[in-house]
Amino acid sequence: MAIAAASKKHSASASATSTPYTRFQTTLSAVVERLKLSQAERAFLTEPQAIREAQLSITRDDGSQASFPAFRVQFNNARGPYKGGIRYHPAADREEVKALAALMALKTAVVNIPFGGGKGGIQLNPRELSRHELEEVSRAYVRAFKEYLGPDIDCPAPDVNTTPEIMAWMRDEFEKQTNSYSPAMITGKPMSYGGSLGRDTATARGGFFILEELIDRAALDPTELKVAVQGFGNAGGTMAHFLHNVGFTVVALSDSQGGIYGPDGIDPVRIEKYKRKTGAVAGEYCEGSVCDIQRMKMDGVEHITNEELLELPCDILIPAALDNVITAENAQKVQAQYILELANGPTTPEADIILEKKGVQVIPDILANAGGVTVSYFEWVQGRSGEQWTADRVDTELKRIMLDAYKAVRREAYRTKVSYRHAAFSVGLKRIVDAMRARGWVS
Ligand code: NAD
Repeated sequence: MAIAAASKKHSASASATSTPYTRFQTTLSAVVERLKLSQAERAFLTEPQAIREAQLSITRDDGSQASFPAFRVQFNNARGPYKGGIRYHPAADREEVKALAALMALKTAVVNIPFGGGKGGIQLNPRELSRHELEEVSRAYVRAFKEYLGPDIDCPAPDVNTTPEIMAWMRDEFEKQTNSYSPAMITGKPMSYGGSLGRDTATARGGFFILEELIDRAALDPTELKVAVQGFGNAGGTMAHFLHNVGFTVVALSDSQGGIYGPDGIDPVRIEKYKRKTGAVAGEYCEGSVCDIQRMKMDGVEHITNEELLELPCDILIPAALDNVITAENAQKVQAQYILELANGPTTPEADIILEKKGVQVIPDILANAGGVTVSYFEWVQGRSGEQWTADRVDTELKRIMLDAYKAVRREAYRTKVSYRHAAFSVGLKRIVDAMRARGWVS
């Protein structure tokens, strides 16, 4: 139930009328206006090309029936097959999946890989399902959407609460249903079944390359920088390890149940050990909301909420959990100088304006977290060619692509005097529009 409770709290802080999709559109409209796109071009970019919906029915382990709403949104495929993860979460709905699909179209364009953008979701709380029930619902997802998926059509991947194991079930079901051999129909698979080296750490690795470059250009020393990371899953947890390993001071970490703040630094390896044992980032000190205060005092740490984490004294803030967490209500209280968005959509357009006025530099999601889809692209290439890339090759190619994208966005921001978010939207939109023009979809 932790996830459900957290998502309720999370939406309570959102502005009453905004949805993930309207927030995306606010930024999109401003950039589209500036780029002076035609009506036909705008029409393509404001709504997805297709929205697929289904109710997935499974038999639960106790024999009862359960049904879950499921979505696959195909936003734009001008530059290549739709590409984007599948999220399992109680808050995954049409609007959220639409927004995430739109961001994927821009993201693949920003890193200039030959994909469009799509996204999927199943509205469920994975903690309430057994492993067998999760497998059933994952296979049902593929059966529901099989005619719209495929290596040349739409290629899913993991997202929040979906794992390599789930990707393997989905590939297996797709191959059974279509009587085909299709290693490139999905990415984020286990190494034993068509995965790529480096995919598990790719999102954090890509963000890390950008952060390194940014810090280098600003002549800052990692050992003097404090970082707070919200979310301790694939993106946030891996990033915390990378940062810690090269000398940044990680001062705060959290998961859906809250977090730990230690102004002198906390060790992600230790946090990970307790998270594995207890299921919580704060597991070394707390059981639910009951904490061992004495022990915390001795170790110089405090228990914090996810809201408090965003407002801590630190140099770099890394939202790596859910969307809509930095809003008009708390943006003024953000103390970090840099925000690296590993999560998708963590900052609202209203918060963007406040942060810009405060001089906080935001490296937007469609650039900062594009490492995941970039290595997914490498996995897709390997799936089609039958090759297996080395870890070194993956790392070198990822760094090149991430730094090229960062340069393109930085140049656009400098040239047109806009924020990095608007610059990244511009870079992505121009590439999508160029492809649409080349294909003759718009003139
Ligand atoms: P994950 O499921 O591995 O981890 C999510 C983490 O967030 C967990 O630690 C969970 O406890 C925590 N969390 C859940 N609800 C929370 C809340 N309300 N407050 C604070 N923490 C909460 O997911 P992930 O793959 O790490 O994805 C995290 C974010 O990164 C998402 O926005 C996702 O779209 C984005 N992202 C992930 C990838 C990827 O390759 N994994 C790629 C691009 C973007």
